[in-house]
Amino acid sequence: MKVKTLLFALLFFSFSALHAQENKMQTYVSNLMAKMTLDEKLGQLNLPGAGDITTGQASSSNIAKKIEEGKVGGLFNIKSVAKIREVQKIAVEKSRLKIPLIFGMDVIHGYETVFPIPLGLSCSWDMAAVEKSARVAATEASADGICWTFSPMVDIARDPRWGRIAEGSGEDPYLGSQIAKAMVKGYQENLSGNTDIMACVKHFALYGAAEAGRDYNTTDMSYTRMFNEYLPPYKAAVDAGVGSVMASFNDVNGIPATANKFLQTDVLRKRWGFKGFVVSDYTGINEMVAHGLGDLQQVSALALKAGIDMDMVGEGFLTTLKKSLQEGRVTMAGIDLACRRVLEAKYKLGLFTNPYKYCDESRAATDIFTSENRATARRIAADCFVLLKNQGNILPLKRGGTIALIGPLADNKENMTGTWSVAADGSKSVSVLQGLKDAAGNGVKILYSQGSNLDADSLFEQRAGMFGKPIHHDPRPAAEIIQEALNTAAGADVIVAALGESAEMSGESSSRSNIEIPQAQQDLLMALLKTGKPVVLVLFTGRPLAIKWENDQVPAILNVWFGGTEAGHAIADVLFGDANPSGKLTTTWPQNVGQVPIYYNHMNTGRPLEGAWFQKFRSNYLDVSNDPVYPFGYGLSYTHFTYSDLTLSSNALKGDQRLTATVTVTNDGASEGREVAQLYIRDLVGSITRPVKELKGFQKIDLKAGESRKLTFTITPEDLKFYNNELKYDWEAGDFLIMVGGNSRDVLSANVNWVK
Ligand code: BGC
Repeated sequence: MKVKTLLFALLFFSFSALHAQENKMQTYVSNLMAKMTLDEKLGQLNLPGAGDITTGQASSSNIAKKIEEGKVGGLFNIKSVAKIREVQKIAVEKSRLKIPLIFGMDVIHGYETVFPIPLGLSCSWDMAAVEKSARVAATEASADGICWTFSPMVDIARDPRWGRIAEGSGEDPYLGSQIAKAMVKGYQENLSGNTDIMACVKHFALYGAAEAGRDYNTTDMSYTRMFNEYLPPYKAAVDAGVGSVMASFNDVNGIPATANKFLQTDVLRKRWGFKGFVVSDYTGINEMVAHGLGDLQQVSALALKAGIDMDMVGEGFLTTLKKSLQEGRVTMAGIDLACRRVLEAKYKLGLFTNPYKYCDESRAATDIFTSENRATARRIAADCFVLLKNQGNILPLKRGGTIALIGPLADNKENMTGTWSVAADGSKSVSVLQGLKDAAGNGVKILYSQGSNLDADSLFEQRAGMFGKPIHHDPRPAAEIIQEALNTAAGADVIVAALGESAEMSGESSSRSNIEIPQAQQDLLMALLKTGKPVVLVLFTGRPLAIKWENDQVPAILNVWFGGTEAGHAIADVLFGDANPSGKLTTTWPQNVGQVPIYYNHMNTGRPLEGAWFQKFRSNYLDVSNDPVYPFGYGLSYTHFTYSDLTLSSNALKGDQRLTATVTVTNDGASEGREVAQLYIRDLVGSITRPVKELKGFQKIDLKAGESRKLTFTITPEDLKFYNNELKYDWEAGDFLIMVGGNSRDVLSANVNWVK
C-alpha cells in the first residue's frame, strides 16, 4: 500500500512539474509574442539555407541584414561554432527582439564520424547500436554549434528503384518504428543539456511510395495501407517525443503533403497529439506551384492552413502571408500558432536562456571525430554488413598468402561515407585497400588493381557523381583495364572484388530503372570468375540490387552498403573473421526489376501460387518465379543457427490474455556468433485482407559455438491490432499463425485461436 501511495505521489509530482514547465513556456512565449510585429512573426517562420557565410564575414553576408530585421527564424547547413556564434550574435544583439536562431543540419547517419547509411544501419537490428549512432551524431553536431537535425528519415520503401531507400530503414513498419524510436531517443533524450539536439522526423508522409520509384513522384494509396503499413514509423517518432516533423515533397491522394491538412493537422496533431513544429522540405511550398495548386501566394496560404509552421528556403511565407492576411486568405490566429510553435522549439532547446548554448568552442577538439567515436562506428558498421552467400566457407579469409583486391570501389575513401554525409571530410575515411592492409599483418600480401570504371558510360558516371564524391575514371579501353586486373590476380590465392554502386547512385534524386551492378563491373566480375580462383564479392550499394546472376555465379558475397568513416576497417574485420557478420536484410532483394514492388508482408490474393511455379490462373509470372533472391530478414553468419521446438503457452486464448511463444536457437556451427531471431504473425481471417506475415518482435542474441538458448516472445492483443476499413484500430477474434525463424522465409509455425 505504502509503495502504491509513494508511486502515485511521484507520478503526481512529476505530472505537476511537467505541467508547471509547460505553463512557464507558454507564458514566456505569450509575453514575447505580445511584443512582436506581424513581420517579426513571419520572420520566425522563415528558414533560409546558410548561403555564402564564411567565418569572419557573417555580418557582411547577404543573410545578415535579414537577420537584423527579424526576418529569419533559423538557418541550416552552416558548420562550425565560430560561424554559428557570429550569426547568432547578429540575431541576439542586432535584431529588435533579440530572438535567437535555431541551427539545423542534415545530420543523417553521423556527423564527422559517419556511420553506415540508414538502410545499412537498420540491418543491424540492434536498437542499442542505432540509438548509440544517433547519440554520437548528436554529441558531435552539438559540439559544432548545431541544435537541430533533419533526421530520422523513416519513410517505408518497397521500391529499390527509389534512390532514397538508402536513407530509411527498409520495408517493414514494425522494425521501422523501433528504429524511429531509438533514433529520436539517441538525438534528443535530454534537451536540457548541450549534447542533445532536436530531431525532425521526415518526410511526412509516404515519400517512399513514389510511383515507379522516381523521386518526388506522386503517391496514391488506400487509407488502410497508409495507416497499417506506411504511417507507423512516423507515429512511433511522435510517440517518442520528436520535436519537429518535415513535410514531404510528394502529393498524397491528390494533395501535396505540404498542403495536406489531413496529414499535417488531422493525423499528426489531432490523432497523434504532436506538439512540436512542422517544417516544409526544401522549397516544398514553392513547388506546389508546379504541382498545379496556384501561385506562390495561394500555395503559401494553403501550406499554413494545412499546418506547416516553418518554410524551408522558399520564402513563400515571408513574402506573401501578410498580403494573404490582408485579403482574408489566412488568419492571424494561424500565423500566431505557427510562430508560437517555432518559438516553443527554441524555448525547449534552452536558446532563450543561453543563445550560445551550443557554441562551446572547446568541445570540437574533444567531442568530434574522436578515436572512441570512430571505434564505435567501426564496430557498428561490421554489425550492419550482410553476408549474402558463403559457399564452401571461402570467408573468413585466411591470414596468409596473396589477396588480389580488385574494383573501382576498392581504393576509394570519399564514397565510403555514402549519401548524406555533409559534415564529413571524405578524405579521412578508410578505404577497403587501407583497411585490408591495416588488418592483414605481415603474412599476407595484398595486390590491387582498379579493374574497371564504375560504368562504361561516362555520362552516366557524371550524373552518378554529381555531388562530388569522385571515383577515378580510367580513360583506357575496358579490355585493357580488365587485363591489367587479371595480371594482378594471376599471382593471388583469392580475389576480393569491391564492386557495386558509388555513393551518389542512391540518395536524393538518384533513382534507377536498372538496379543491377553496372555492366562494366559485371564484365570485370565475369573475367575474374573465369580465372577459376575463389572470388569474394564485396558489394557496395544504397539499395537492394538485382543480383541473381551474381548469386548464381559468385561463391561469396558480402553486402557492405556504405559503411561510413571506418568502412575499410570494418570490412577487413569481417573479411578476416575478427568480426562475425550478423546483419539481416530489412528489404526484399528481387530477381529482377520487373518484380518490384516485392515485399515480404504482402497480401495473399484470391489466387495465390501454392506449390511450384508456374501455374496457370494463379498469381505469378510466366518468366520469373515470385521468389526474391534474398528474403526480408535474411543474412548468413560464419557459424550456423538452427531453430527448434516452437511451443505456444496455449492454443486457445481469450481477451487480454498473453501468449508466450518459446523457441530454441542453437549455434551448431564452429564459432561464436550473433543471430537475429524474428517473430512473425499472420491474422488468418479479417474484415479486410491481411498480410501473409507481419514482423512483431525480434531478439538479437550472442551464442557460443554449440550453445543453445530458449527464447521467449510475448504476444498480446496489442500486437494483433490493425486499422480496419473505418480506420478503427483494434484486433479481431479468430485464428492466427505464429512464426519464428532466422528470416521471413524459413520459419517454424504454430496456430492459435484468440477470442474476445
Ligand atoms: C531533402 C531533405 C533535407 C533537406 C535539407 C531536401 O532536399 O529532401 O531530406 O533534409 O533537403 O537539406
